[in-house]
Amino acid sequence: MKKVSDKQRQKNKEYARTRKLAYERDDGMCVLCGALATETHHIIFRSHGGTNDLKNLACLCRHCHELAHGVDAKKVREVLMEMTDRYEEGCVRCSVRRGIDHGRT
Ligand SMILES: [Zn+2]
Ligand SMILES: [Zn+2]
Repeated sequence: MKKVSDKQRQKNKEYARTRKLAYERDDGMCVLCGALATETHHIIFRSHGGTNDLKNLACLCRHCHELAHGVDAKKVREVLMEMTDRYEEGCVRCSVRRGIDHGRT
């Protein structure tokens, strides 16, 4: 059995908490299409130095999560990063909806 270090365990605990906050923030819905969110996505991939901060997490449905890692990954990341800029302003929900309204204003 592999021993998990205390540091790693602490990290996992923190991440679990942040994920929960992300679900609460996003109302349990996919920030891209509004479907039920089933996964949390790292907007800046961890392999690119992304953190487990709430600001770097977005709740996505399965389908959008696949897009976020697919050929349009760059485009999806730009959309998500624009959203996270607004997260700091507080009004997540209406700004998120506006962000995904494909061209309409
Ligand atoms: Zn979705
Ligand atoms: Zn992801």
